[in-house]
Amino acid sequence: MDLELAPEHTSFRAAVREFAQGVVRPHAAEVDRQHRFPHEAVAAAAESGLLGVLVPREYGGAGLDALCFAISIEELAQACASTAVIVDVHTSVGTEPILLFGDEGQKRKWLPRLATGEVLGAFALTEPSSGSDAASLKTTARPIGNGYVLNGTKVFITNVGHAGLYIVFARTGPDEKAAGVTAFLVPADARGVRVGQVFQKMGLHGSPTGELILEDVSVPAGNRLGGEGQGFTVAMRALDSGRIGISGQALGIAQAAVDEARALMQESDHGQGDDFVLADMATRLESARLLAYHAAWRSRSRAAPSSAMCAMPKRCRSTRARTRSSGSSSPGI
Ligand SMILES: Cc1cc2nc3c(=O)[nH]c(=O)nc-3n(C[C@H](O)[C@H](O)[C@H](O)COP(=O)(O)OP(=O)(O)OC[C@H]3O[C@@H](n4cnc5c(N)ncnc54)[C@H](O)[C@@H]3O)c2cc1C
Repeated sequence: MDLELAPEHTSFRAAVREFAQGVVRPHAAEVDRQHRFPHEAVAAAAESGLLGVLVPREYGGAGLDALCFAISIEELAQACASTAVIVDVHTSVGTEPILLFGDEGQKRKWLPRLATGEVLGAFALTEPSSGSDAASLKTTARPIGNGYVLNGTKVFITNVGHAGLYIVFARTGPDEKAAGVTAFLVPADARGVRVGQVFQKMGLHGSPTGELILEDVSVPAGNRLGGEGQGFTVAMRALDSGRIGISGQALGIAQAAVDEARALMQESDHGQGDDFVLADMATRLESARLLAYHAAWRSRSRAAPSSAMCAMPKRCRSTRARTRSSGSSSPGI
């Protein structure tokens, strides 16, 4: 058993770190203070190929594995937690469902645009009265002619107002729970799509989180992602990848906090008790990193996802992640 990263993962980390520290970090404090979308950082990440890490080369992406994805988000989060979560949501839940469940036409239409960052992706599952219990969502998609008409309100949507494409989950069937849910590709400029309230959060101030309102939004049947009633499966598979990314996010935030604490301690007088605290933090961080990388490594084959394995590192790390530098907490998706 070899617990070291392979040379390609090590060199990938070094490249992302150089990019994140050199290009993303200089904007981080101002982005957080101003509560503004980090346009420069996201554009530069797109230019560097970081928005298409998981997209195969044939669709214009880098074709890398889930471990590279986790590492990329970890490194971005060390520099700017907001940029990291924007890229994470775009790459995982905002793009991967098309790869996993899209037909060839949907892949050819959307993946190259998502991989290059021409279009930012988002994922719209949560509603005011359905969070953890996502299967009870109330947004409807009524079949009309050769398409559907969507109505409903989504909340806590990351990248809201900046995304060009939303993967929206709505109820097509009479079933009240998971079996009635279907996924749709909804372009942001479709008539009837609008942004509602954008929320003030405790952290991640550069990452917009808010309401997506759908009022009589018509989409053709070709925008259905997967079969009718398959939407809950689409959502759960997407969240496997999302949880790997959020684990990377939490690791990066925690690493930045540990590094900052260490630097502050070196600058000032400190007692042995402080060393013990720092040692505890570093130990918990390293154990969480091993769990996160293991989950990512297990997820490298899309054919064999492990939902429980993906959930564990997010559970472990995101409840602990706090940073003094950005005041960020980890998001809930
Ligand atoms: C920053 C941020 C970004 C997000 N981005 C997105 C996004 O891009 N797209 C999207 O669709 N959603 C997004 N979400 C929403 C996220 O997925 C939900 O917050 C999450 O699913 C939890 O739902 P909830 O907030 O309604 O909490 P609830 O489901 O109401 O849970 C509240 C509390 O009750 C507990 N609880 C819930 N059910 C039970 C039960 N049966 N038994 C015991 N305890 C229970 C939970 O553990 C939790 O502690 C985001 C959230 C945040 C905070």
